[in-house]
Amino acid sequence: MNRPMLKISGLQAWYGESHVLHGVDLTVKEGETVTLLGRNGAGKTTTLKSIVGVVRERQGSIMFDGRDLMTLPLHHVARQGIGFVPEDRGIYSSLSVMENLMLPPKFTPGGLSVSEIFNLFPNLEERRNSQGTKLSGGEQQMLAIARILRTGARFLILDEPTEGLSPVIVQRIGEILKLLRERGMTILLVEQNFRFAQKLADRFYVMEDGHIVDTFSASELDSRLHGLQAMLGV
Ligand code: ATP
Repeated sequence: MNRPMLKISGLQAWYGESHVLHGVDLTVKEGETVTLLGRNGAGKTTTLKSIVGVVRERQGSIMFDGRDLMTLPLHHVARQGIGFVPEDRGIYSSLSVMENLMLPPKFTPGGLSVSEIFNLFPNLEERRNSQGTKLSGGEQQMLAIARILRTGARFLILDEPTEGLSPVIVQRIGEILKLLRERGMTILLVEQNFRFAQKLADRFYVMEDGHIVDTFSASELDSRLHGLQAMLGV
């Protein structure tokens, strides 16, 4: 069995006085694709932001590859090989595609070269000199993923990568994530698009009110489908 790459135990988080996470336990094994499901406001984004250290009012333990992320400053988290694509994608609007791509330093060996990235995302090559503001939502999402692949990250965290995108682009994002998984990338994603998550994930966690309330593998999904669809409103 693959070793745990990320192991979160008893994670609590706050925004000021507001206590949002109440003891989250979640594990992602090396090479796995894990999806975090849950209603709006359940605490999914806060969980991701707590892992990468954007949310700093936290308690509990977040171990990545044997190292406690809780004690690391924000700028050291990416150096561990963790790439985060936030919900807003984080593309700099005044910079070109190429400038956005080259912005983060290569943190670990093994990142893709620019030509490998353009093989994977031919549309980004066509738009290499376009400004961030001129890109469609799908192009921004692809650029956000491409930028991380260049850094050499081994663990990809995505917050609702399909949000607001057309079905054709959603399919393309799915193909890219599958390809990355085949190449050994470990992936944790938050997704409201249940059909998309269903095609991709090895394992699921379900969150409600700042807790994990269920976890199951892809093979158990069918037996959970009815309840999940009702809960997520799909
Ligand atoms: P969504 O899909 O709506 O983003 P989510 O499951 O990702 O849902 P979170 O964004 O983690 O949920 O939000 C969890 C709770 O924390 C919600 O009650 C939300 O209102 C609150 N919250 C989120 N961000 C902040 C913030 N910056 N300040 C205060 N409260 C916040």
